[in-house]
Amino acid sequence: NGLDATRRAWVEIDLDALRQNVQHIRSRLAGRCRLLAVIKADAYGHGAVAAGEAALAAGADCLGVATLEEGIQLREAGLGCAIVVLSPIHTPAEVKAVAHWRLEPTLCTPRQVLVCGEHLARPHPIHLKIDTGMGRLGAPWSEAVAFVRLARSQPQLQIASLYSHLATADEPDSAALAEQHRRFEQVLAALKQEALRPACVHLANSAAALGDPSLHYDLVRVGMALYGLYPAPIFCQTVPLQPVMQVRARITQVKDVPAGTGVSYGHTYRTTKDARLATVAIGYADGVPRRLSNRMEALLHGTRVPQVGTITMDQLLIDCSQLPQAREGDIVTLIGSDAAETIGADDWATRLETIAYEIVCGFKHRLPRIVR
Ligand code: PLP
Repeated sequence: NGLDATRRAWVEIDLDALRQNVQHIRSRLAGRCRLLAVIKADAYGHGAVAAGEAALAAGADCLGVATLEEGIQLREAGLGCAIVVLSPIHTPAEVKAVAHWRLEPTLCTPRQVLVCGEHLARPHPIHLKIDTGMGRLGAPWSEAVAFVRLARSQPQLQIASLYSHLATADEPDSAALAEQHRRFEQVLAALKQEALRPACVHLANSAAALGDPSLHYDLVRVGMALYGLYPAPIFCQTVPLQPVMQVRARITQVKDVPAGTGVSYGHTYRTTKDARLATVAIGYADGVPRRLSNRMEALLHGTRVPQVGTITMDQLLIDCSQLPQAREGDIVTLIGSDAAETIGADDWATRLETIAYEIVCGFKHRLPRIVR
């Protein structure tokens, strides 16, 4: 399209793919199980407002963010749905903010429960988090009954849910997952005995939502799968997800160089024969990790070509010797598909010994998003 002609590099967001992913995830859930779409960190780099609206339109019931600022951004954009803040709040000022913006905070300690109970002027939904083995946030599972009882004693707190987070859901056979599940069940049984079980309890992230239905309970909190990325390769067999993000950039210069030419900072690459190199207008400031230097590929004219030399702040180089037709202005695909070839965020993640979450979250502010 006309606008693209002025762009050096961009991220394409395919909301149809996101909507279809939501429907596929929904198809794994029992009818009464609700879906919370996790759109924290600007929807894992995909754009929170557009992703949130698309997820809701496709059947998500509510949204989850990490911080108050992220929740406020959604309200300011006009989203009226339930928004759960997945991190705890501590201060009276934060309590005032959640009340004002109608955000539903997570409470993890007795102190947070008391601060929230004291500073809310009227009844307000909150979510209680217990730690069953993640070791990060939440009241200890062995103290869950007392924790729920304390929250129930605060007239202004409406317990919208009780939840816990899994540490190893991407390893379905792990003993740690089984133990977290067992502890959660034990907590629920103890709460039931005291007639304290909240109407909504939840445990599952993407991996558990795609995997074991016995982890679904009343709601699943799904992030990664919304964006068409699998939490681990084993989950590829569950439902066909489509990646939502593609990253592309233009060639700004093509040059023929002789064998023995050193390329980019530090000359970490030297041509071994006469070569045609192209400079591409995207670099580490845009979200292409510098550690991928000489270790990644790109797609040009439907062909896979190697990236060569150190990736710089705004630019990187590719060797397109096999493509004599390569020209200035041609579009290079860094993540995504070109004809029959595809490079996934998980491909970068494997090369960097990290997870695709970190790769997509890296495309933050600098590149314009073209949302389709
Ligand atoms: N629930 C909580 C509490 C989280 O922190 C996250 C993300 O880390 C999720 C759910 C979603 O996880 P995933 O993206 O693996 O679905």
